[in-house]
Amino acid sequence: MEMDRRTFLKMGGLGLLGLMAAPVIDVLLKTGAAQGARSSGVITAGRWALVVDMKKCWESGGSACRDCILACDRAHNVPDISDPEEQIRWIWREPYEHAFPEQEGRAESLAGKPFLVLCNHCTDPPCVRVCPTRATFKRKDGIVMMDYHRCIGCRYCMAACPYGARSFNFRDPRPYLSTTNPAYPTRERGVVEKCNFCEERLAEGRPPACVAACRYGALVFGDLEDPRSQVRDILRTRYTVCRKPELGTRPNVYYVVG
Ligand code: SF4
Ligand code: SF4
Repeated sequence: MEMDRRTFLKMGGLGLLGLMAAPVIDVLLKTGAAQGARSSGVITAGRWALVVDMKKCWESGGSACRDCILACDRAHNVPDISDPEEQIRWIWREPYEHAFPEQEGRAESLAGKPFLVLCNHCTDPPCVRVCPTRATFKRKDGIVMMDYHRCIGCRYCMAACPYGARSFNFRDPRPYLSTTNPAYPTRERGVVEKCNFCEERLAEGRPPACVAACRYGALVFGDLEDPRSQVRDILRTRYTVCRKPELGTRPNVYYVVG
């Protein structure tokens, strides 16, 4: 069952704002993107962030649970291509040693544990810096976006991303879709893609598909700049880690591991 909009706004620290200005928020979130809401001044200085509680994921979901991955794939028409060289991935699992190579050997209890990984929507994203056509760009609310129409497939962004968060369409992905979500564009051969923090769902006031799909509450999404948000609360009260912090990209995806 999907998380409803009220719960999501509350988690994001937007509950009070929602109560104070529900009609305004409703109109803005339904008619314009979250970005529009921000530029209109209603929701200002936002920075979206995702906290992945891996402890909850391992203990409640276990390795058999793929709800978040499947929900994302369905929402974004991610093709099911088995060849590892040509796979398209928005959110997937990597063993601890791959996800956190710099910490290998330092946390034996995490050895071999699967971590959910995705684009970190870095605060200082190298992929944006190298894109010659601005097909990759960063919104004011922190979401690192792809404009598929501007992408020329040079793959500079893939070389620049230190997290392997981007996939290249070596072939037409459409034959590899079992169902198609008509509300989201399919891609063509020759373009790069990645997680977009479900900007299209945020524009409708809905939480990201992975967050909505997780029945154990292991994924928490919200505004990092709002001190009342649940993401801020988790960062205040729990020990969290980011991937490759030494690179200075400043990821906006955090992990709770204990
Ligand atoms: S994780 Fe990679 S693709 Fe995502 S913003 Fe950072 S550098 Fe760019
Ligand atoms: S592959 Fe596309 S998104 Fe990546 S750098 Fe080239 S034009 Fe930009």
